[in-house]
Amino acid sequence: MDYTDLYIDGAWRATETRFDVFNPATEEVIASVASADIADADAALDAAERAMADWAARTPRARSEVLRRAWELMTERLDHFAHLITLENGKASADAKGEATYAAEFFRWFAEEAVRADGLITHAPASGARIVVQHKPAGLAVLITPWNYPAAMGTRKIAPALAAGCGVIIKPASETPLTMLALMPLLEEAGVPPGLVNVLPSKKTGALVDHLMHDPRVRVVSFTGSTGVGRKLLKGAADQVLKPAMELGGNAPVIVFEDADMDTAIEGTMLAKMRNLGEACTAANRIYVHADIADTYIRRLTEAMSALKVGDGTDASVDVGPLVNADTRDKVAAFVADAVKKGAKVHCGGEVPAGKGYFYPPTVLSIVSADADCVRDEIFGPVAAIQTFTDQDDAIARANDTEYGLVAYVFSGDFKRALQVCERLDYGMVGLNRGLVSDPAAPFGGTKQSGLGREGGHEGMLEFMETQYISASW
Ligand code: NAP
Repeated sequence: MDYTDLYIDGAWRATETRFDVFNPATEEVIASVASADIADADAALDAAERAMADWAARTPRARSEVLRRAWELMTERLDHFAHLITLENGKASADAKGEATYAAEFFRWFAEEAVRADGLITHAPASGARIVVQHKPAGLAVLITPWNYPAAMGTRKIAPALAAGCGVIIKPASETPLTMLALMPLLEEAGVPPGLVNVLPSKKTGALVDHLMHDPRVRVVSFTGSTGVGRKLLKGAADQVLKPAMELGGNAPVIVFEDADMDTAIEGTMLAKMRNLGEACTAANRIYVHADIADTYIRRLTEAMSALKVGDGTDASVDVGPLVNADTRDKVAAFVADAVKKGAKVHCGGEVPAGKGYFYPPTVLSIVSADADCVRDEIFGPVAAIQTFTDQDDAIARANDTEYGLVAYVFSGDFKRALQVCERLDYGMVGLNRGLVSDPAAPFGGTKQSGLGREGGHEGMLEFMETQYISASW
């Protein structure tokens, strides 16, 4: 691997303490990566502060051109980034290329948004003063990303932060730091000045992030990961009243009505379930199918899931790579065992294969009990857990019966009914006759314990900006 050290102030810094990164398909070590400590965090903060002073003063157009160039360069090198993603995360090469494309698109989208930080000027109704509203860069941002999208969860934060005029320090997940490190030479080439973007992989994660978040120069903490860690960070953010952007866990319901087009429902469920082999916050977690069509739906979904080829994701013919690590694979196996104990029927999959690699086969379960663990928690694996319903209100109530509120999916041929159902779902996003909602141009984010704030869309850049109002007379 070419880039395995810390990236601070535009330079590579080795450390004595290092940690191993594994290929989940082979269980072999693929890199030994530097582990940042407090002194490294301070160096990154100093560098980011210096670089931001100049960057924030540049015109929005100048910032936009750099981001646009980053999109062009990344788009030219999608295969390179996809390969790295597969090596450290395991996902199949087509999935990895999809992620690399999605990741690059954030640079293009926020190159376009950088020049659109709209303000407002209006008359104060009573005093006659002018109300002038503008958005300014919020300050340094600490970005913490998970392992399931090693590129996209980073660019979804870096691009809007840079568009807004902020300097950043990124703490990538310890399982998958290589893709983010490899992005740094590309950003340099695109014209990102030294120090503006710093990457600190670390095995002392909690202490490092806590230190960063308590530096007075930091004003934003943007996190994607589990709800448990998100809660801790929110408590830490309270000390300095940081702007928090929290993209947390999900427990996505899929509701398939009796009037749904079956091809659309199967295709949409497959995408919502198997994109990233189920290791996604947006992954279909609970599937509610109308009892009238359940037999056909289960048969068709089982056929589609059984047809997927499992193997090392670097083989282009493979559809489903390994899960990221042994813990994740064992957790998925435990979910299936628990569901079966509580009465579920296994239609395909359900057995951990022998041999190297953290593989788990695409699995379809029906008659899943409402109190099965996989109904309450995120499965984060290739397991479709199906229940049936007969009453629309009951389906909506069951879909909403969770502390999460990231995304729901609805399949129905009756558009009026479908929209009425969408409005009653307590979720930040809904896929209507679609199994994919992620789009750089759309505000991604959840309600309830799925998080705070939005990434992408027009909202994404505002997470890194402060609103200033000037009350003026002239
Ligand atoms: P995680 O355990 O919460 O880790 C995410 C990041 O937080 C990693 O960089 C991790 O570093 C870091 N971290 C762990 N403990 C920390 C602490 N005490 N203080 C500061 N940082 C800490 O989550 P994960 O297992 O990597 O990712 C899966 C979760 O992410 C799922 O719940 C999924 O739903 C969620 N997710 C949400 C979205 C969304 O947009 N809503 C998108 C993708 C994933 P280390 O790796 O060094 O531990």
